Amino acid sequence: LLQRQVEGAGVKVMVGEKVTGVKGRKKVTGITTGNAELACDLVVWATGVRPNTALAKQAGIEIGQLGGIKVNDKMETSIEHVYACGDCVQVWDQTFGKPCLSLLWASAKEQAAVAAANCLGEPRSYPGALSVVIEEIAGLTAVSVGATEDALRNAFACEDFTVQEQETQAGYLKVIADSQRILGAQFVGNYQGAGAVAAWMRQGISPEEIKGVLANREQLKWAPWYAHGASVAQLLA
Ligand SMILES: Cc1cc2nc3c(=O)[nH]c(=O)nc-3n(C[C@H](O)[C@H](O)[C@H](O)COP(=O)(O)OP(=O)(O)OC[C@H]3O[C@@H](n4cnc5c(N)ncnc54)[C@H](O)[C@@H]3O)c2cc1C
Repeated sequence: LLQRQVEGAGVKVMVGEKVTGVKGRKKVTGITTGNAELACDLVVWATGVRPNTALAKQAGIEIGQLGGIKVNDKMETSIEHVYACGDCVQVWDQTFGKPCLSLLWASAKEQAAVAAANCLGEPRSYPGALSVVIEEIAGLTAVSVGATEDALRNAFACEDFTVQEQETQAGYLKVIADSQRILGAQFVGNYQGAGAVAAWMRQGISPEEIKGVLANREQLKWAPWYAHGASVAQLLA
């Protein structure tokens, strides 16, 4: 869907192609891939982000297996009273508790609040990372909350879930859930409901509870924001 949108804007999309070289001496003139040679005068690299842990390593602070600074739920490092937060830390996924890098501004902010509170002697725990990514691609908004199918299978070794999809004029929606919880949702175009899904996931509210509130006018009065996620709830098995 997104590829079609980008191509519609006149961009040639090549997937599964690895850049093997950049050509030009004083100025870039092209790139080579495994299968092609393309002329260009600008190259933009977007190849991911890595935690910068040099300072922590120098201080003898423990680094986790994913390359981020290891912290506990107080955002405290392996050295007592030394706290870390943001892109440099390795945290854990809220749903599965597995180690992850959450290289997002919202995560950094939430972790910073926890670290600051604990520094000031006010005990507070970080619940784990919940990924919310919003992108506008060639005029189309795409939102991903929680895990994708690919992440569930490959990063979390999880196969026990159902996937429901819906494509309408307004956009595309995919909801991934098990009987206990929503595991992820992806929106393209109309993303109404993304905020409700993030809140349901953060609070660990089960699909059954969500549908119960939406079906009960009295309860809905006290949680009107549930209604924003009605399109998502309809897809829950
Ligand atoms: C291009 C781009 C787009 C992004 N878009 C989004 C987005 O849309 N939504 C989102 O949620 N996140 C986005 N992010 C990620 C987001 O910017 C980061 O997750 C967030 O800034 C992390 O905050 P931080 O404080 O951990 O690190 P930073 O914001 O990188 O701040 C770290 C600071 O520490 C300083 N520093 C480093 N070493 C030292 C040292 N030894 N001594 C003193 N200072 C030092 C650095 O100069 C820097 O100012 C984006 C990132 C990039 C690169």
